Order: sequence, then C-alpha cells, then structure tokens
Amino acid sequence: MAKKKAIKKAFDKWITRLGLRWWKLTIRYYDDPGEIISRFRHDDDLLVLARTYADWRYLQATIDINLPAWKEVKDVDEAVIHELVHVLVNEMREGGMTHEERVVTLVTKAILWAVDMERQDANRFTNESGLWTQDINCFSGTATVEKAE
Ligand SMILES: [Zn+2]
Repeated sequence: MAKKKAIKKAFDKWITRLGLRWWKLTIRYYDDPGEIISRFRHDDDLLVLARTYADWRYLQATIDINLPAWKEVKDVDEAVIHELVHVLVNEMREGGMTHEERVVTLVTKAILWAVDMERQDANRFTNESGLWTQDINCFSGTATVEKAE
C-alpha cells in the first residue's frame, strides 16, 4: 500500500526533526475491520485516524494507525506531526484531553508554518549578483552581506 509507505517515510522524517529519536516509539498499523472498530472508535461512533499512547516518565510511546482512514488524508506530514506532537505534550494529559488536543493542533500548524517560511527564505537568498540581501526585522532595516563561499 503506497499510503503506508508514505506514512512510514513521514514518521522517519519527523521523528528526527522533532527530536524524538531518544524516545522508544512503536508505530502499529491496522487494517482489519474488527480491530479498527475496537481500537479507533470514538465516543459518538466516529473512527479516529490514529491513537497515541505515551508515557512521558519513561519516554515511551505507541502510535496506532487506522490505515484505511488515511486514504482520505491529503497532508500526511500534517497528520504525522500531529500524532508526534501528542508525544511531546503528553505530560499535559493529566489535566484532561481537551487542552492537549488544541495545543497539539496549534503546535502542528506552527511547525508547518516554520517549514513554509524556511522554503520562502531559501528562495529569497538566491540571486545572481553574488550578494544576498536579508531583511533584519529586529533592526527594522536592510543589510547587504557578501555571500560566503
Ligand atoms: Zn489529536
């Protein structure tokens, strides 16, 4: 299944980028209909995309993937980052799940925005003159710097 390959690739990429290599992470993939219903059913008979169980005390986490549901996922990176951010903020769960869900969504978006901006910056610094110009926002000015070889 091509989607499973894409999910695995995204986990490999984001586990490293989010500094989670020193956690013990187990990712389990499910496609059996009976098992999907028992593992991924939400309160109101909705099936969730994934469930993340993390124990921040021992830096261990298991992420269960509802494989058929990922067919509908357009941005695999976003969904993978979302689950990994649950691992990062797991300590918050002791105060209930609602705040954790909102913080995870915001942090996921912040990461994606950072990646987008990095891409835009990479384009901005490309010019043929051999010089590059960078806006330094904190000094509200423009500096021209010789490009280092
Ligand atoms: Zn979530």
